Amino acid sequence: MNHPEKSTLTALLKDKARELGFDLCGIAKARVLEKNARILKDWCDAGMNDKMGYLPRNIGKRADPVSLLENAVSVVVTGISYYSEFSQRKPMVPVLSRYVYGKDYHLVIIPKLEQLLEFIRGIVPEAEGRAFSDSAPVFEKPWAAEAGLGWQGRHSILINKEIGSFIFLGILLLNLDLDYDKPYAKDHCGNCRICIDSCPTGAINDNRTIDARKCIANLTIEGRGPIPGELIPVMGRRVYGCDRCQEVCPWNRIPKAGAGEFRISPELAEMTLEEWQSMSGVDFDRIFRDSAVERVGYARFKANVADLTGAGRPSE
Ligand code: SF4
Ligand code: SF4
Repeated sequence: MNHPEKSTLTALLKDKARELGFDLCGIAKARVLEKNARILKDWCDAGMNDKMGYLPRNIGKRADPVSLLENAVSVVVTGISYYSEFSQRKPMVPVLSRYVYGKDYHLVIIPKLEQLLEFIRGIVPEAEGRAFSDSAPVFEKPWAAEAGLGWQGRHSILINKEIGSFIFLGILLLNLDLDYDKPYAKDHCGNCRICIDSCPTGAINDNRTIDARKCIANLTIEGRGPIPGELIPVMGRRVYGCDRCQEVCPWNRIPKAGAGEFRISPELAEMTLEEWQSMSGVDFDRIFRDSAVERVGYARFKANVADLTGAGRPSE
């Protein structure tokens, strides 16, 4: 069977990615990301991975796409905005990170990437691939920069000049040779340090890494055990994740509105403090069905709400 030229296949793939709803699509040649492996190792050696003990164990895998797809040749990186123009409306309520307003991104992005793979298989039947979105040890942000989608800001998050940084990234490894985008070489942070100065807990290091022991996103989601008492007063009622470093970034002045499935539901937007504090397990399951918040479970979420709204834990 005759296959299209590499350039034609690349263009078809990118058109299909757009049709599937991705705002960004770039392609990098698969290789070992040695520099990022060193950065991760140094970061773990300094204890900044907090209780995420799995991180130092998978550094080789993270750095080498071949460990996830043995004949990987190309790394397709997609980006989709999740910015919701509407947010929580009631005063003094627990604050959620925007990325959990709508449907769990794994449930949206991985199926889209699998559709993209099926599309490619319709053209090249022997194509093999694997799709990921924060679901396997892959250096997503460095790959996005390699694929020309943007740069990692001082807060370490990928920023795209056109649509900002409220982006979910997805990775599709393919065994096909494609036309590659130029790695993003510019750094548009310049002399800006707004995110560093605005981080409520001082979690942003000077080398574009985050100290997970202080980062609210880690403490409220990944952290095991209670939130350190000395940090609670500065956390601003953030009970699940934190958007502060992105909210203050000048590149997010006019973020692109995200797809409908990532918008906040009217129920979530209108919940009052009393409703948050009295939320039952049944309410939690209903409100956060198909949401990434489900991941922490009711007990942990309730404890975060109690700690951060001053209600005190039920056992206290
Ligand atoms: S997510 Fe919040 S706590 Fe973490 S680095 Fe950004 S501003 Fe700081
Ligand atoms: S706030 Fe400033 S330093 Fe931080 S990521 Fe944005 S542009 Fe870069």
